[in-house]
Amino acid sequence: MTNRSSIRPLAGACALAAILSGCAQPASQSTVSAHVAAATQAAGTDLQPLLVLCKPAPATRPPQAESDRGIAALMNKPPPPQGQAFDNLYYVGADWVSAWAIKTSDGIILIDALNNEAEATALIDGGMRKLGLDPAQIKYVIVTHGHGDHYGGAKYLVQKYRPRIVMSEVDWKMTETQLEFTTPLWGAPPQRDMAVKDGDRITLGDTTVTLYLTPGHTMGTITPVFDVKSGNRTYRTLLWGGTAFNFGKDIPRLDSYIQSTQRMSTVAKEQKVDVLLSNHAGYDNALPRLEALRQQPGLQPNPFVIGNEAVLRGLTVMNECARAQRDRFTLQ
Ligand SMILES: [Zn+2]
Repeated sequence: MTNRSSIRPLAGACALAAILSGCAQPASQSTVSAHVAAATQAAGTDLQPLLVLCKPAPATRPPQAESDRGIAALMNKPPPPQGQAFDNLYYVGADWVSAWAIKTSDGIILIDALNNEAEATALIDGGMRKLGLDPAQIKYVIVTHGHGDHYGGAKYLVQKYRPRIVMSEVDWKMTETQLEFTTPLWGAPPQRDMAVKDGDRITLGDTTVTLYLTPGHTMGTITPVFDVKSGNRTYRTLLWGGTAFNFGKDIPRLDSYIQSTQRMSTVAKEQKVDVLLSNHAGYDNALPRLEALRQQPGLQPNPFVIGNEAVLRGLTVMNECARAQRDRFTLQ
C-alpha cells in the first residue's frame, strides 16, 4: 500500500509530462530497442510492411542526383492494373504511389494525383475509363501532402477537368515558397486553390470526407477519413497521408508525427475505423489485395477490412517507430 501510494504521484507526474514532452525517458540505446520491440509486437504478422519505418532514417537528405535516381527507379516499375477495392473506392495508382478515387452520387473525389502528367494521363484518365468511371466527373483532388509524387499530375487534371485542388495551408505555402523535395521527374506544383484546416469536410453528393491535419511527414499532411461500401455494409476508412521519415534529423517534426499518430488512434477508436489505407501501396498491401478482388470480385470478407484492432496496431507501429527514430537522432 505504501509502495503504491509512493508510485502513484510519479505516474501522475509522468502523465503530465507526457502532454508536454512525450514523457520520454532520456534517449538511450535501450529506449530505441524498446520502441522497436513495441512496434514489432504491434505489427504482428499482418502489418509487416509498416515496420520498415523502424529502420534507422538518414540524418540528412540524399544528394539530388541520388534522390533522382531512386525516384526514377521507383517510377520505372510497371504500373499495376487499375482496380476496385470497394463498391465506391477505386485504385488508379502506380506501383509505388497510389491514387484513390471515391465515387459519389455527384462525381468523384480523387485522393492524390501521382508524379506527373504522363502518369495522370495513363493511370488516372486511362485507369478510370477502364473501370467505367468518367474522369471528367472528378470534382475534387485532395493532395495529401506537398511532395511531387502526390501533386505532380494535378496541373494536368485542372487543365483538363477543372476540379478543385485541396491541400493544407501549410503545404500550399511550402509548395509556393520552398519545396522540401523536388526532381525534374515530377510535374510542377498546382496553383493554389482550396486550403483546408483540421477537421474540415468535403461533401460531394452522398459522401463526406473529413480531413485531419496529421503533421509529421510534412508539416501540413492531410489524413482523409471516409466511408466505403461493400454490398450492404459500410466501413470507416482512414487513409494515412504521409508515412516515411525522409526529412532528416528533425526532432520537433518527429514529435509532431508521434502526436499525430496518437491523436488519430483516438479518432480511429471513436469512429470504429476498420480500414487503414496509405498513399503508397507498399505500406497497405493494396496491390495483392486488389489482385485478390480482381480474381474474385465481391470477395468476402473484403481483404482491405482489417478491423479496428489492426488499424490501431498500425498506428501504434508508426508511433513507436517515430519514437525510436526520435531517440536515435537525440543520441547522434
Ligand atoms: Zn511525401
